[in-house]
Amino acid sequence: MYLRYKKQFSVHLNITLQQKYYKGKPMQKYDPEQALAEVRREFGEHGGVTPSISRSSTFTVMEPGTMPKIFEGVRGHKGGCYLYSRHFNPTVDIADRYLAAIEGTESALSTASGMSAIACTLLQICRAGDHIVSSSTVYGGTHALLGELFSEMGIHTTFVDPANTEDFEKAITPKTKIIYTETIANPTLKISNIPVLSKLAHKNGLKLIVDNTFTPMVLSPIRLGADIVVYSMTKFINGASDLIAGAVCASEEFINQLMDLHTGRVMLLGPTIDPRTSFDLIQRIPHLALRMREHSRRALAIAERLEKMGIQITYPGLKSHPQHELITSMINEGYGYSGLITIDCKTTQKAEKLMSILQNKERFGLIAVSLGFFDTLMSCPGSSTSSEISDNDQKEMGLSPGLLRISIGLTGSLEKRIEQIERAIKVVLFN
Ligand code: PLP
Repeated sequence: MYLRYKKQFSVHLNITLQQKYYKGKPMQKYDPEQALAEVRREFGEHGGVTPSISRSSTFTVMEPGTMPKIFEGVRGHKGGCYLYSRHFNPTVDIADRYLAAIEGTESALSTASGMSAIACTLLQICRAGDHIVSSSTVYGGTHALLGELFSEMGIHTTFVDPANTEDFEKAITPKTKIIYTETIANPTLKISNIPVLSKLAHKNGLKLIVDNTFTPMVLSPIRLGADIVVYSMTKFINGASDLIAGAVCASEEFINQLMDLHTGRVMLLGPTIDPRTSFDLIQRIPHLALRMREHSRRALAIAERLEKMGIQITYPGLKSHPQHELITSMINEGYGYSGLITIDCKTTQKAEKLMSILQNKERFGLIAVSLGFFDTLMSCPGSSTSSEISDNDQKEMGLSPGLLRISIGLTGSLEKRIEQIERAIKVVLFN
């Protein structure tokens, strides 16, 4: 069995891993789609065009002497054997290689959720007494993790405006270990200046960690100087709203730290991804680039049309977005500006009425949290995904209770979709 595995492995070894890891200067011209196409292709047993799913929790070795070597840390795809699936698993390894290729990192590690990827990454670096400077406009769960749970553990966070890099600088203390931000802030769609934050972090001996959930393919934070990228793969990367998963993309050294048998936060806290979930991701990541282009194309067309109607709409691809030039200077060519738009309806009542008409009358989209689905998803973050953030903090970050976040889907004719949203807006916002 092991020999068969070895044979299959060696057949594919001659296809080289084309991962160009950023070390030093920013390399903005990155083509994640091509990098993915060049990554080693894995075939299934019997020559299947898709890889087989390795569901085993444990793996045999031919000789007992092999086992200590595995415990020394030789990972399966690097020529070693597999041991136990909370450690490494062949199917999960394939998804991880895809992720590393997209992100341009040496290595990557899938986890059971975006939150576990974020929590384990931060806990790997910070100890009690340490300090984090974070964008104030992060996903509500991340905000609660940093502001409440970590605070109970003695790791303190200062939240600052993501659009103002000077605020990050002012908040750094001798105890700071990390600068944390999201590429496009959830849900205000403010943009973080990653090259400047990277310089700031490195000048002060800190790590820059970026949540790229809103912009896979579109933006490659590592190429712009970030040290670690985290993902909720529950969103665009999977694209089907049928699973929960996360990822950490980083140097081999950092991924090994997360998996260390004695101190690895992923290894020991145990948010292991199931190989069946990884298999689903392996089937969907190859068309992520196509999907991102289409999400972006439709979001831009809808945003432009609504802007012409005089609606208060935010979309990073619109020239009217205050940081349009900044994001344009950072994105990879050809993937647009992602699929998220927001409409400020001013009051919760109006936002709810608009969502109700869009779902129940026009069938434009679905009232549901989350994003990156192939159908359009709509929610009011103030009372849902950002409800962990206090009313005062919401106000300060520019999150109005009537802010409607729409993740633009891929289904239906674009012209019909535009007609649907125009009609609904006329009823709710022009009356
Ligand atoms: N990061 C962002 C930007 C998110 O929007 C979310 C969830 O909505 C998360 C992280 C958490 O991911 P998960 O739900 O997969 O744990």
